[in-house]
Amino acid sequence: MAGVLQRDDWRDDLASILPDFFARPGRAPCVPECGPGWAGVVDRCCVRIAAALEPRESFRFESIEQSHGALRIRWGGRLSAASEAAVRAAVDLAEARSVCVCETCGARGRLYRADDVLAARCADHAEGAPAMTPEMENVHLTQVTVRGRLRVVVAARYDYDTDSFVRIDDAEALERREA
Ligand SMILES: [Zn+2]
Repeated sequence: MAGVLQRDDWRDDLASILPDFFARPGRAPCVPECGPGWAGVVDRCCVRIAAALEPRESFRFESIEQSHGALRIRWGGRLSAASEAAVRAAVDLAEARSVCVCETCGARGRLYRADDVLAARCADHAEGAPAMTPEMENVHLTQVTVRGRLRVVVAARYDYDTDSFVRIDDAEALERREA
């Protein structure tokens, strides 16, 4: 992803734009612990969260880190149920997108395994072999909100181009219709 956030100091840029998101009361500010290739993923997540918040609601990151090759985000805040659902969705999308983006350079990537270490990399930066079979690639368990309250866990496939989840049963129905 092009733009100023590709520089090494992308973390400082985000924290200066959205200081409340990165401040942690009584502790040092949250600093994303991941490679510069994911700057755009974190940036997009922040934009979505900022758009979801209503006046007087609060949000902060507890941690942003790479774990098992994927972005992992922990957060807290004072939010309405609707805003909380929107924040959860933004975080789920960012975590799912991260394994499609090279953590080193930001190009389109996938999950590779080398010596039992998982990493999201493009072909140029990859070591080892692809970690997922095509059927399992980008399949996630994600929570969806039903009628504004009930959360259910569904299997969904992350679609890079639309940056959204497609429920597996919906995706299969679509494929059947197109076949
Ligand atoms: Zn790369």
